[in-house]
Amino acid sequence: NTFAEIDLGEALNLNIRRCKYVKPTPVQRYAIPISLAGRDLMACAQTGSGKTAAFCFPIISGIMRGQYVQRPPRGARTVYPLALILSPTRELSCQIHDEAKKFSYQTGVKVVVAYGGAPINQQLRELERGVDILVATPGRLVDLLERARVSLQMIRYLALDEADRMLDMGFEPQIRKIVEQMDMPPPGERQTLLFSATFPKEIQRLASDFLSNYIFLAV
Ligand code: AMP
Repeated sequence: NTFAEIDLGEALNLNIRRCKYVKPTPVQRYAIPISLAGRDLMACAQTGSGKTAAFCFPIISGIMRGQYVQRPPRGARTVYPLALILSPTRELSCQIHDEAKKFSYQTGVKVVVAYGGAPINQQLRELERGVDILVATPGRLVDLLERARVSLQMIRYLALDEADRMLDMGFEPQIRKIVEQMDMPPPGERQTLLFSATFPKEIQRLASDFLSNYIFLAV
């Protein structure tokens, strides 16, 4: 029961060793195989449970192996990420970005972060250099979509982190607007991973609206 036994791709397995992760945490132990099998997932996970790696590993591994047609030359300034990780705050988004960058080192997978409360220009310049995984807060992402600087038409992986906190902060309209823009690829081609510490009715409704045939994981 070690990461060495899970084939996530050579470069990612090497990065996991570099991070000195040896044994998966409980949420990783169950969430990673479920995600690698292509299933949608709703997982109960607290801060400190190792949830960041639980959704980052399958996404990075999937993009590394995927034969995705990247960045169609349509509207030169629009970028087409393959994965979106939504999180409630700037702090959490930056933490996820830092970890995801370590995990994707020398994998060819590019990670960019975009959050509100900071000038947008630097983030736009980062995006222009290309992005496979976009980590974002909902408000800033809606802004980028309205400016047509990001398109979600190529999204194959969607992760919602701390979904209950996003709803508490009033982000449900933005989240719905964001997910509506992803309904372009053939159904079933998008994999959705929803992480939340609690499961009130609102979260269950979100799950039944956004996830298909999902597995519920509580560890
Ligand atoms: P998270 O719940 O994703 O915020 O992770 C909490 C902390 O645990 C972070 O500092 C991670 O780097 C660390 N961590 C996550 N998974 C593992 C693991 N399998 N082995 C050792 N440390 C880990």
